[in-house]
Amino acid sequence: MAGKRLILMGPPGGGKGTQAKRLQDRYGIVQLSTGDMLRAAVKAGTPLGKQAKAVMDAGKLVSDDIMVGLIAERITQADCAQGFILDGFPRTVPQAEALDKLLKDKGISLDAVIEVEVPDARLIERITGRFTCSKCGEGYHDKFKQPRKAGVCDVCGSTEFTRRADDNAETVGARLKAYHDQTAPLMPHYRAQGLLKVIDGDRDMDVVTKDLESVLGT
Ligand code: ADP
Ligand code: ADP
Ligand code: ZN
Repeated sequence: MAGKRLILMGPPGGGKGTQAKRLQDRYGIVQLSTGDMLRAAVKAGTPLGKQAKAVMDAGKLVSDDIMVGLIAERITQADCAQGFILDGFPRTVPQAEALDKLLKDKGISLDAVIEVEVPDARLIERITGRFTCSKCGEGYHDKFKQPRKAGVCDVCGSTEFTRRADDNAETVGARLKAYHDQTAPLMPHYRAQGLLKVIDGDRDMDVVTKDLESVLGT
């Protein structure tokens, strides 16, 4: 059904991107991944990309002003009118407050904020095994989701894959710390608004998807 406006929250490697892509297809709404936007800027060598790269490589968070500006511009584009899934934003209380204001000014309300819960101990394995199709962005994992035919993307047939510069065991610690210190405090913010739904993300991907669909309805 059109018109869903969602936030998908969860730790790095928690499965947000994987599930957001499925919800995008299922509900005909767009995935807005701030991590993907930043990586595109890094790749293109824009001033933003140059500024963000060192912060991302260190596993820290890019400034609230930059992130709020990115989303404010993106969320008003025509393709978001039918609904959207915020993946990786907001990540701090000031970002959430800025988003509240932005949506209020535009007369838009959120349908749900979903927290995908995964214990820290699982995330290192998830993150260090992650790779992505360079052409279509489909996500894979060395152990949990290999392409059906080795070395060939299931979706687009490309044979080129990439791994993120920040997906290494050293950076994971900083990213988890940023999550617990700066992002976890958002849960009470959205619980108080009656929007928060918590899902157990430490299960098979398809089971998590079913659970999301039953929470979101048709
Ligand atoms: P993950 O898949 O591990 O959750 P993302 O792809 O969402 O990571 O983000 C990668 C990196 O981009 C983050 O570690 C951070 O440096 C930066 N980033 C992405 N979204 C935000 C945000 N909303 N606020 C600040 N930094 C962000
Ligand atoms: P996030 O966007 O939250 O950082 P991803 O969706 O990129 O997380 O998932 C991180 C890695 O873990 C990917 O390689 C993905 O294929 C894999 N993955 C996602 N969900 C699950 C799951 N439920 N069980 C096992 N592996 C998963
Ligand atoms: Zn592909």
